[in-house]
Amino acid sequence: MTDKISAMPIKVIGFPSLYVQGPGALDRLGPCLGSLADGGAVVALVDPFVMPLFKSVAAELGDKHGIRMNLLAFTGECTRREIDRLVAAIGDNACTAIVGVGGGKALDTAKAVAHALSVSIVIVPTIASSDAPTSRLMAIYDENHKIVEVPLLRRNPDAVLVDTSVIRSAPRRFFVAGIGDAITKKFEVADSVGAGLPNFFQGAPTRLASLLAESCYQVIRTDAVAAMEVFDLAVPSEVANAAFERVVEATVLYSGLAFEGGGLSIAHGMLRGITAYPQTQQALHGELVAYGLLVQLAANGFADDALLEIRDFLVKLGLPVCLADIGLPNGSDNDIRNIASLTFEAPYVAARHELVSRQQLAEAIVRVESL
Ligand SMILES: [Zn+2]
Repeated sequence: MTDKISAMPIKVIGFPSLYVQGPGALDRLGPCLGSLADGGAVVALVDPFVMPLFKSVAAELGDKHGIRMNLLAFTGECTRREIDRLVAAIGDNACTAIVGVGGGKALDTAKAVAHALSVSIVIVPTIASSDAPTSRLMAIYDENHKIVEVPLLRRNPDAVLVDTSVIRSAPRRFFVAGIGDAITKKFEVADSVGAGLPNFFQGAPTRLASLLAESCYQVIRTDAVAAMEVFDLAVPSEVANAAFERVVEATVLYSGLAFEGGGLSIAHGMLRGITAYPQTQQALHGELVAYGLLVQLAANGFADDALLEIRDFLVKLGLPVCLADIGLPNGSDNDIRNIASLTFEAPYVAARHELVSRQQLAEAIVRVESL
């Protein structure tokens, strides 16, 4: 009896302490920082695109809440050099909270800076392009845009504020990339759970992680096309607005909780291979991952009709479905073998090497090219 109990896996899932979403959610930043910053200085690392918007947010924080927020511009890449530069710029200014404002790389840089300074972190995504906001992970790149390390925060972000009026004013491409990053989770979590692999908390996945991943997929399949209307019309329908809010919740919240608490697989692992080619630099994380999903499904033996059905959906949204779409129009057999091989640098792909070999993965890439 005791043995049976001790053989049960330890399940773990983590969450940000607070998640806020909706048009105008930035109004909650003041109250949020009021408790987190504890009267200390706040530094916001801001993507230059949204610096004008954030200057007015900072002014209002001072006027309404008496919170002093210094703004630092993020320069575009999440590298050790950029993180060290920002930590040095903040110095010993009694900073008690960092606010990361922008896209995935700005947010990951902000996490790394908060981690180095051991202070609170508030995440304000201004585009819904990836699953970065809710998680403890940070993808750190080298100067050649290749991921070199994925360190962890001590805990999930203290707060995630998703102002959907800001998200919808960003280009549609980011929102679509976020869908690409999220649509894979149902299949990646299922792969990871099926192989009995630990999640990103070094625990067994809870059933909740799978439910979130499945729900994420359902929301995207049901609502993504309707949600696009918010980018096309000055005054979108109620139906489109509601669909947009549901898709943002799926791509930011469900997707983030699902991958971290559930695990990843080939779709994300392929980033290790693909990003080794500088030609793919123009593609967004979620675009690459969407393509990676087709390879994952092909490697898992999905029938052509099932693959084509998902491929058609990706095409409809404007997501890449072949090597040419991600900047590698002349991928040779050698490149394909190389991408497949580098994919196994991802620990969660290496751990499944008995289920999928390098050779099978290379064949899956070729199969997706032939669809
Ligand atoms: Zn991702």
